[in-house]
Amino acid sequence: MYTFDEMLSVLNNSGYRLTDQRLSLLRVLETFSGSFSALDFEKKSNEMDPSIGRATMFRAIDLFLERGILEKIHRENGDDVYIVGSKGHHHHLICRVCGEIRDIDACPFEEEIEMIIEKEGFARTLHRIEIEGVCRNCQKVVEEGESGTHGVKMG
Ligand SMILES: [Zn+2]
Ligand SMILES: [Zn+2]
Repeated sequence: MYTFDEMLSVLNNSGYRLTDQRLSLLRVLETFSGSFSALDFEKKSNEMDPSIGRATMFRAIDLFLERGILEKIHRENGDDVYIVGSKGHHHHLICRVCGEIRDIDACPFEEEIEMIIEKEGFARTLHRIEIEGVCRNCQKVVEEGESGTHGVKMG
């Protein structure tokens, strides 16, 4: 995950004018360590700087997404979430029970995709692949639950 300074330099290097409000919104981003919803972001932003309007906030979100300092994660249940971005090409492992999102730094799909692209004659491609499942910790909780006392229902 990008640190505050890294986010700042990404924006500076892409020539964006950093208004006070955008800086405040970067401060808001910095407070999240895991995934969060647009509503979480809005609440936190209102808390930290009530002067920032909704329109400004959503424009900043678009800018942050475009520059990769914010990433939108598509969830199978339709509740898309955000996380602070990371450097370079990567993928995500998403736990559908606890919502934890982990970066996969190396691209395991590079070669296969390269073959397809070449065969189909595509240029300037990008790909997004997310892996959703149940993390090790949540599997344990489910097993314990099944053997008697309590547990998380898997949907
Ligand atoms: Zn989990
Ligand atoms: Zn990849």
